[in-house]
Amino acid sequence: MRTEKTACILCSRNCGLLVDIEDGKFTKIRGDKDHPLSQGYICQKAARLDYYQNNEDRIEHPLKKQADGSFARVSWDEALDDIARRLLSIRKQYGGEAFATAGGGGQGNHLGGAYLGQMRAAMKSYYNYNSLGQEKTGDFWVNGRLFGSQECHTAEDIEHSDFIIFLGCNPYQSHGIPNARDTLKEIRKDPRRTMVVIDPRRTETAKAADIHLQLKPGTDVYLLSAMLAIIVRENLHDEAFLKAHCTGFDAVKTMLMNVPIKEYIAAADVPMEDALKVARGFAQAESACVRADLGIQHSNHSTLNSYFEKLFFLITGQFGKKGGNNLHDSLIPILSHTDERNPKFKRTVYHNMFAVSGILPPNILPDEILKAGERRIRAMIVDSCNPALTWPDATAHKQAFESLELLVVIDVAMTETARLADYVLPAASQFEKWEFTGFNMEFPKNGFQVRHPLFPAKGETLIEAEIYTRLLEKMGELPKSFPVLSRIAKYEPDFSSHAGFIAALAATFAANKKLIRYGASILYRTLGPTLENNAAAITLLLPLSISLAQKYPDAVRRAGHDGNKLTQGVNLFNAILKARSGLIFSEHRYDDVWRLVKNPQRKITLAIPELLDAMDKLSIDDLTSEQYPFILSAGERRSYNANQIYRDPKWRKIDPNGFMRMHPADAERLDLAKGDRVKCQSETGTIEAVIEIDDSVRTGYLMMPHGYGSDYQNGKVNGPVINLITGLDHCDPIHRTPLHKTIPVNIEKLSA
Ligand code: SF4
Repeated sequence: MRTEKTACILCSRNCGLLVDIEDGKFTKIRGDKDHPLSQGYICQKAARLDYYQNNEDRIEHPLKKQADGSFARVSWDEALDDIARRLLSIRKQYGGEAFATAGGGGQGNHLGGAYLGQMRAAMKSYYNYNSLGQEKTGDFWVNGRLFGSQECHTAEDIEHSDFIIFLGCNPYQSHGIPNARDTLKEIRKDPRRTMVVIDPRRTETAKAADIHLQLKPGTDVYLLSAMLAIIVRENLHDEAFLKAHCTGFDAVKTMLMNVPIKEYIAAADVPMEDALKVARGFAQAESACVRADLGIQHSNHSTLNSYFEKLFFLITGQFGKKGGNNLHDSLIPILSHTDERNPKFKRTVYHNMFAVSGILPPNILPDEILKAGERRIRAMIVDSCNPALTWPDATAHKQAFESLELLVVIDVAMTETARLADYVLPAASQFEKWEFTGFNMEFPKNGFQVRHPLFPAKGETLIEAEIYTRLLEKMGELPKSFPVLSRIAKYEPDFSSHAGFIAALAATFAANKKLIRYGASILYRTLGPTLENNAAAITLLLPLSISLAQKYPDAVRRAGHDGNKLTQGVNLFNAILKARSGLIFSEHRYDDVWRLVKNPQRKITLAIPELLDAMDKLSIDDLTSEQYPFILSAGERRSYNANQIYRDPKWRKIDPNGFMRMHPADAERLDLAKGDRVKCQSETGTIEAVIEIDDSVRTGYLMMPHGYGSDYQNGKVNGPVINLITGLDHCDPIHRTPLHKTIPVNIEKLSA
């Protein structure tokens, strides 16, 4: 038995773990007290990670689809030679727009994405579909308009805040904030602090709150705009802050002055006195912040919701301060800036859709494959992602993938998407390779952890860095070796700066600019082998560390990483490699936030014309109809669901069916009891569900979890395939984020 350090890979918190390992299995998992952010905290989900590491759907050899639909084992060379040949042929015949990628990692599994991006470059494609496009691109779009770049991302300083609004999130179950359950307890027991929850369900977090605004589902836009209007009409906005740091407030004020407060509060169906208390309390608090999540981003008027969420802390001056909302730096640049107003960024063929932060929304993918005619997507690589199960309209995605000329899936398990592939390439699991926690989103202190391999790779599995580098070599995009670089990397006398290697790399790129796009693979092949313990795949952290240190030398120094312009980033890189429990890589002052704003003069642009226009046209909509009288929230986070990497249903201690919450009054009306089965029908499809009677939901409102429906061991489907009822067109009009929290449905009792 040995004990090792690693991190949880089930949600964006990536808590540090201490794991006991025996006979190739995790035997005990607990929190790592030395982790600089989680400090020993974990939730119940992490303890079950062996169900990921040792599940029976793992694949260990490259597989090729046969004419009869079965898979046959092939060698890596056979698979990669054929894939390279077919990709080159598609590129030659149809150009880059015939190729797209999907996925590229998940929580704590980011390296694949870094190498996958090189495949788009090789294929001259800009089609990058991933799950963030199903969740967060509306939020990124609004950030881009407010702060000047879609790379700007907001953080909330909850630990130091006097007044916290949890908006469309239930941190008790979904986490997303530092050490969620401990933090909620701290807020609750401190009488000087106020916790507000805005959520249609009386969640575990709402039960602990001082004020719960249990609004009608899909009405966030009315409630938020009405509370902002109260702030402005009562002159509670922060004139000095707005003058010093923002432009466009006059237009926003005019818009808010036109909001029919009473009518909108009534539409949300919450008590006026509570709405007043929250608006006034937030504006007048010494410090206040908003933590928002999918509850508003997956709800009707998703973009407006995100806009109003941010106006809350901007017009009240609760930004750029202790206990407020802030921006943060990033060591791993997960987000980029792809402003659709810039003609340089191309749009898709069928939907004329633009990328946000470099990411396209899954909701358009089936149409771009099935309906774009000669210019359709014909080949895809899907990496660590399972769109045929986890993206909207699973039936449409399945049909689209079946029509591709080439589908390659790189994954650890035989997923629903892998079963549709021409080639399935087996990747090492997240605990069999070097990896890192890429959601570094904290402010003022930001942290990071690399995870070292805990188990030997199974069978013939390879790490993604090796798979993509080999593929690029077979495509002739990348030379098989860089002898000069490799020699310098090996014999450079001064490893404290890597100065000789970096100079040689710069010369290589200057001589052949095309190679810049393959920087990750070149580092992997050249400097990589010189790193200890076979850590080659994470060599790309070296340029990222150097870049971060050059941008924020003082913040990096405060976090304990010294050095001059040449060596500080290298020192940070070396510290990252050694810090098994992770480390703090930057420590900012609160007013550094203005350096993170990308607009000219570092001012925030409050007026977003498209959204002011949308607000002008806003009316109160009724989401239900005679045909679909209920609103279903599809995708609740519970005790035993997470991202979809657990395939073995045995990982769940409770709730094997992923029950549907229904208010007792609705159940009585439909003559339903706990455990009854129902048919749940939307415009898109039908699923079956098992009823749980629960008065924490409003009448007319139903809730089901995400993360179920895996066809484990090909034939044992566990729980509802929720995406059989989510539709491609049921999405936000701007960036096409699906509106999973507000799906109109009908419920019918099943007789047996
Ligand atoms: S699921 Fe999230 S909160 Fe729970 S242990 Fe894992 S990373 Fe931490």
